[in-house]
Amino acid sequence: MKCETCGSELSGMMPTCPFCGTPDPVYMRRYRQYPPSQGNYPPPGGNYPPPPPPQRNYPPPNINQPPYRSGWQPYDPTNEAPEVMLVILSVLVPLVGVIYGSVCLGNGEKRAGKAYLLAAGISIGAWVILTLFFVLVGFLAAANR
Ligand SMILES: [Zn+2]
Repeated sequence: MKCETCGSELSGMMPTCPFCGTPDPVYMRRYRQYPPSQGNYPPPGGNYPPPPPPQRNYPPPNINQPPYRSGWQPYDPTNEAPEVMLVILSVLVPLVGVIYGSVCLGNGEKRAGKAYLLAAGISIGAWVILTLFFVLVGFLAAANR
C-alpha cells in the first residue's frame, strides 16, 4: 500500500504516513474500532464533577424493625382508641363519660373523647327517654285510675 499523497510505502501499522501525515487507509480500516489515540475523549477527571462524598449521616437500616402489620400506625393522640371499660362506664355513669370525654378532648384524644361523650350522651338520652316513658306511663295510669 502506497501513500496517496507522497507515494511512500506504508506498512499499515502506523495510523498516518510517517512522511506526510496522510492517514493510512489500511490502518484505519484495520484499527478503526480500536483507535489507539484517545484524543477525541475528554481528559479523565477534567470536567467531571467530583464524586459525591460518602453519606456519613445516612441512617443505618433498622434490623430490629418489626415486620409490617397492616393498620399499624405510629402513636397519634387524635386517633387514640377509646377504652372499652371507660365507654361502658360512661354508659352506666354518664357523668363519668362527660368528665373523661372532656379530659380526653383536652388532651387531644379526639376519638376517645368523642366516644366517651357519645356514650354518655346516649346514656343520658336513654335515661331521659326512660324517665319520660315512666312519667308518661305513671301519668296515664294516674289519669285512668
Ligand atoms: Zn505520505
